[in-house]
Amino acid sequence: MKVWVLSSDSEISSTKKLIVEGENRGHEVLVLNPLEIQFQISKTNFSFYLKSKKLKLPDLVLPRFGWKTGEYGLLLLKALENAGIRVVNSSHSIEISTHKMNSLFLLAHHRIPIPTTKMAYSEMDTAHHLLKYDAQVFKLLHGSQGFGVTLSKSLPQAKAQVDLLRSVRTLSLSQEFIAEAKGEDVRVFIVGKKITAVMKRKAPHGDFRSNLHQGGTSHITKLTPSEAKLALQVSALMGLEISGIDFIRCKKGPVILEANPFPGLEGIEKTCKINVSKAIWDHLEGL
Ligand code: ADP
Ligand code: MG
Repeated sequence: MKVWVLSSDSEISSTKKLIVEGENRGHEVLVLNPLEIQFQISKTNFSFYLKSKKLKLPDLVLPRFGWKTGEYGLLLLKALENAGIRVVNSSHSIEISTHKMNSLFLLAHHRIPIPTTKMAYSEMDTAHHLLKYDAQVFKLLHGSQGFGVTLSKSLPQAKAQVDLLRSVRTLSLSQEFIAEAKGEDVRVFIVGKKITAVMKRKAPHGDFRSNLHQGGTSHITKLTPSEAKLALQVSALMGLEISGIDFIRCKKGPVILEANPFPGLEGIEKTCKINVSKAIWDHLEGL
C-alpha cells in the first residue's frame, strides 16, 4: 500500500515507530507535514500539491498531527476523503473527539458517566456556577497532553482563572474535580474494535494531570469486563478506529475523561511490552 502519514514531525517517536513497522511490511510510507500540503478542488477534480508539485494520491492516509494543526488539518482530511481516499481516523471522528465540549455532549447523550461539566459565557454566570463546587478543573476546548488543563482549588483561584481566559478571549469549560482519582487514570488503547493495551497513569508529585508528557508515570493494569465494554463503546460512539480512551476509576464506577484520536505509542508500548504499531498495521492491512 501507498500510505501518507500526516505528521508535523517525522522525528516524533510514535511517528517513527509507525513508519518503521509499515516499511518493514513492504508498504510505501511517505511522511508529510499537513501544513505544507495544498489542495485544489473543482467539479471534476481534487488535486494535492507539495511545494507546487502535484502529489500522487495514496491508498490510505494516517493522520497523526494533533490539534496544533488546527482547522487546516481537518479541512485537508476532508478534501482527501472527498477525493475518495480512506483516512484513518476519519475527519469526522477527529473533529468530534478533539473538541472537549462536543465530545462530552455526545457521551452525555448516550448516558456515559462523565465529570459534571459547566460552561457559561459571562464572568458573573461562571462565578455563580463555581460557588457550588470547591475545586474546579478548567480545560480549553482544544488541547492534549495536559496542556490547557488547570486546577483551581478555591473560588478566588477559579475567578482569577476565568478572568485570565476572558482576557485572552478564549472559551473554556469547567469540570468537577474528581479528587478520589488521586492523580490517577487509565488509558485504553483501542485498534479497530479490539483493546490492544491498557495502562494506569499517575501524575507526578504536586500535579493532578497524569499525562506522560507532564511527567506522569505508568504501570500495566487490567480492565474489568464492564470497563472494557465502556471503553469500546466510547471509541465506537466517536467513530474512531484508533483511539486512546481515558477514564478515572471511581468508587461508583468508571468516569470517562476523553477519547484521543492520536494516542501516543511509545509510553504504552514500553509499559505494556506490546507492539501497538503492529496492531495498527494489522488493522490497516485488513481494511
Ligand atoms: P488532555 O486532552 O490535555 O489530556 P484531559 O481532559 O485528558 O486533557 O486531562 C488531563 C489529565 O488531567 C487527565 O489525564 C487526568 O489525569 C486529569 N483530569 C482531567 N480532568 C479531571 C477531573 N475532572 N478530575 C480529576 N482529574 C482530571
Ligand atoms: Mg487526556
